[in-house]
Amino acid sequence: MTVLMDGRKLSKKIKEQLRVRVEKLEKSAGIVPRLVVIMVGQDAASQIYVRNKQQAAKKIGIQTIDNMLPEDTKEEEILNLIYEYNEDPNIHGILVQLPLPAHINEENVTHAILPAKDVDGFHPVNMGHLFMNAPHSLPCTPRGIMELFKEYEISPKSKNVVIIGRSNIVGRPMAALMINADATVTIAHSKTLNLSKLTQQADIVIVATGQPQMLTGEDIKKDAVVIDVGMNRLPNGKLVGDVDQASIDGIASYLTPVPGGVGPMTIAMLMKQVVEFAERSVKNDC
Ligand code: NDP
Repeated sequence: MTVLMDGRKLSKKIKEQLRVRVEKLEKSAGIVPRLVVIMVGQDAASQIYVRNKQQAAKKIGIQTIDNMLPEDTKEEEILNLIYEYNEDPNIHGILVQLPLPAHINEENVTHAILPAKDVDGFHPVNMGHLFMNAPHSLPCTPRGIMELFKEYEISPKSKNVVIIGRSNIVGRPMAALMINADATVTIAHSKTLNLSKLTQQADIVIVATGQPQMLTGEDIKKDAVVIDVGMNRLPNGKLVGDVDQASIDGIASYLTPVPGGVGPMTIAMLMKQVVEFAERSVKNDC
């Protein structure tokens, strides 16, 4: 039987633990964690993501400072806003919702955030620390996957891990976390040949391609752990992952369902990082 890894339940538990930490921080140091959210334009999916983040923050006791900017905002204005928040000691985290409108260079914007306030963990300095096994801030989706492994007592140590996808937000940082956890890692992508041969030998397969239901039961070995990061909307409106859940069922030992697996963990990890940054700000003051 395949065990479904319940990201909803775990994320709830983590958010409750964070709420307690936030209460304690306020009592002991008078500090309320503050997260700046910057969104440019009216992208419908981004609006939903931002709203979910705001709601999660509110429940935990994190204050959000929202900057909903019009589509035609100039890059310079966004950069100046970020520089101001970088300098403000009352702000612990800065998040820029991606994608940005085409006239704005995403790299310039994400790189302008002070690494110490980079809650998404996308800054090259933070990515460098991660690859050197001395992380400061981690990309939230891979971090959430590591929390799921911990919760279900699955150790990546000495396991053969195949990660399908090499994006900066999922595949690459996931590979670094797995190397840091003593796994033997293979990263596959759209130019990889004989992908199925690789995945059939993997103890753990992590799929983050955006290709609906591409990984099937035939692609994995018995009792493999399968992590499905994908979130794809089919023409009929159904949300599916990159894994064909029906054909994997009974072959994999563990699987993250879509929805309800990796997705909820991403927001929980974002919140965790804001709280950690706020806690660190107290230690740095001493
Ligand atoms: P990107 O499009 O940035 O990267 C996709 C990667 O998959 C690329 O490296 C690409 O290869 C590779 N790829 C695409 N098709 C194939 C294929 N047929 N075989 C092998 N590799 C392939 O996507 P993201 O990493 O941003 O996201 C991936 C998925 O995860 C999406 O469905 C996204 O919605 C979801 N996601 C979910 C999150 C969550 O919280 N649950 C968070 C972030 C993403 P190449 O580099 O050669 O182009």
